[in-house]
Amino acid sequence: MAEMTHFYKQNFKHLIPMNCKASSKYSTVNEERSSKEKPDPVEAEHQGWRAQHFEELPAWRQDNEFIRGGYRPELFSFSLCLNSVLRVHNETANIWTHLVGSALFAALIAIYFSLSQFRDEAMIFLPFFGGTAVCLACSALYHTVSCHSHEISTSFARVDYAGIPWLVVGGMLSWLQLAFQHDHTSRIVYSTIIPILGMTTVVMSLTDKFNAREYRAFRVMCFGLIVAFSVIPLLHCVIAIGLKRAVTEASMCHMLIIVILDLLAGIVYSCRIPERFAPGRFDIWFHSHQIHHAIVVVAALIHYMGLLEMAAFHKMNTNSTEEVLFVKSNFNQSNNL
Ligand SMILES: [Zn+2]
Repeated sequence: MAEMTHFYKQNFKHLIPMNCKASSKYSTVNEERSSKEKPDPVEAEHQGWRAQHFEELPAWRQDNEFIRGGYRPELFSFSLCLNSVLRVHNETANIWTHLVGSALFAALIAIYFSLSQFRDEAMIFLPFFGGTAVCLACSALYHTVSCHSHEISTSFARVDYAGIPWLVVGGMLSWLQLAFQHDHTSRIVYSTIIPILGMTTVVMSLTDKFNAREYRAFRVMCFGLIVAFSVIPLLHCVIAIGLKRAVTEASMCHMLIIVILDLLAGIVYSCRIPERFAPGRFDIWFHSHQIHHAIVVVAALIHYMGLLEMAAFHKMNTNSTEEVLFVKSNFNQSNNL
């Protein structure tokens, strides 16, 4: 902590620029100070910081020129980064969308494992709940500390990217358990290949080269590959049981909507829509990254609804089969008497 404070003192000028010409639109408590005044990090924590414009950012942070303002300055302090979660800036919605989403899916794990009526579904839903909670938590964490410093931002960007495959793999594992309940070979094959592909992407996400800005399109492509490969078992399911049954028994409509939403989220994120059409208008709310985050959470909720329907169908089907068998068994016994 002392080391952090020292580092913070050294870099305090970034928090309160002396020759700031920026508009006061996003200003908070920052006052112009005499250059002779010695910065006090404790005081700074209470006073806060002034949001910056795109041109004021260091080169490594100038990523989206269509977002003109609302940037947190480099804070060089984890506690300041954490405090900034409660402030309004252009990362606020990015943080909260995935923080709340992560807490929601983590809470679902606790609920399913604590209530006896959900015990059957708990183990089936666990990969989906767990993968989603991990992915969203990694994202919220990255967006919280992304303004700390170049080094910290780069490290946590890797954590953010490494979280995405958890979401896809977790969701597919839960779906495969229900959709391929009676096709053990296919279930095992897909349940092995998809996690291997996912974990390969996780490892790639943690490498230096993969996180460079010029690899932005490549990153999107890699994650698209996992999604694309996840389509194979969906097609297999439709071919095996027909589209009508796949819709009612394997929530194919839900899965199709999720694939479309994932593609939409990728396009919005890559093309920086809508801010590219009105630079500066979507600085704080509704810019492409927020929309991308919101779509991810909505897609996860649709996936959950689909799994619920599948689990209900299979439960009903299993119960009715048992009932028929039971009736048949009784019928045979009564005939033998
Ligand atoms: Zn994000």
